[in-house]
Amino acid sequence: MAYSAIRNRRQSIPVKVGHVTVGGGAPVMVQSMTNTDTADAEGTARQTADLARAGSEVVRITVDREESARAVPRIRELLDKWNVDVPLVGDFHYNGHTLLNDNPACAEALAKYRINPGNVGFGEKKDRNFSMMIETAMKFDRPVRIGVNWGSLDQAMLTDLMDRNAKSAEPMDVREVMHEAIVQSGLLSAERAVELGLGKDKIIISAKCSEVQDLIAVYRSLGQRCDYALHLGLTEAGMGSKGIVASTAALAVLLQEGIGDTIRISLTPEPGGDRTKEVIVAQEILQTMGLRAFAPMVIACPGCGRTTSTTFQELAQDIQSYVRERMPDWRKDYPGFENLQLAVMGCIVNGPGESKHADIGISLPGTGELPAAPIFIDGKKAMTLRGENISGQFKEIVEGYVKGRWGAKSVA
Ligand code: SF4
Repeated sequence: MAYSAIRNRRQSIPVKVGHVTVGGGAPVMVQSMTNTDTADAEGTARQTADLARAGSEVVRITVDREESARAVPRIRELLDKWNVDVPLVGDFHYNGHTLLNDNPACAEALAKYRINPGNVGFGEKKDRNFSMMIETAMKFDRPVRIGVNWGSLDQAMLTDLMDRNAKSAEPMDVREVMHEAIVQSGLLSAERAVELGLGKDKIIISAKCSEVQDLIAVYRSLGQRCDYALHLGLTEAGMGSKGIVASTAALAVLLQEGIGDTIRISLTPEPGGDRTKEVIVAQEILQTMGLRAFAPMVIACPGCGRTTSTTFQELAQDIQSYVRERMPDWRKDYPGFENLQLAVMGCIVNGPGESKHADIGISLPGTGELPAAPIFIDGKKAMTLRGENISGQFKEIVEGYVKGRWGAKSVA
């Protein structure tokens, strides 16, 4: 795996979500959320299975009305039938207390309940509704996520903090008051859940914001003020590269500081786009930071004026696709293969150097160089490929390497 300088991981209380552990030093867990109508049990189960197969270790589904709540047991049943054992999390707002109370089979089928303290009701109803959800969690021995979102922040709490701040001798900046309200909303709700009898090992907190600097400030504060497991995510991150970059910028800072036990990347998919992209991005953040390994890494140089033919881009793309295609079989036969590092380099300038650092590297001939591609295996030059089928030969070498290095372990 890549080198990682993260030594100071924040200590948090471990929480079991189905068979998955979050926090307490467990590897940072990847989760995602469906965007199907949960009342469509078949469609939701299919998308959940896709997300799980892409590597989502927990999948959250919206439970917004009676029809959705009634579909949840059927979704679980279908997943079990397809041998997809991913734990399901129910996302509740406004009416979660009623839905959980009226649909015990739904409460049973879910491995965790997400409660948004800003959306459980107002005035005295707020505590009553929140308490009902916590009581259901205790009855079914399920954990909850206290999921604060600054778009639906408890307005009464915010107003109160703003008023007190205005009267203070050294008032904070409005933004800081907002951060404090988000943090307090999470911590006070967790405190209330514990008061009601829920174990601390049944609570995960999240406090999502849509701006990178806000998210960092809020989680740093949360990280210092409690030892609950933390779910990280930049909410409403956006579409395409903007969503990926913003999520990565925020999460990388926090993860580097040892904060965060599970992550979700809230990407807006293109119309008809693939929902599993959010899982791949989450995995790539963790893998490039050296925190976990999910899939072999293909390092490729960006190319430049020395790579005027498309051979180099084609090979890089071909190898990347080959590795993805082979993963299901490799996963079965060669445990540990996900640590494989490949380098596909465009010319002699950085090619041999970068190739030597990978498990297997290929340095293609740049413009004007001899039509030969040296191959480096475990840091040493092993051979030189020539001819029309360099890609096919390279794949054979990769296949042999994976079998030789990780196949022996599976036999032992
Ligand atoms: S390795 Fe060669 S082709 Fe690739 S970016 Fe560097 S100089 Fe350009």
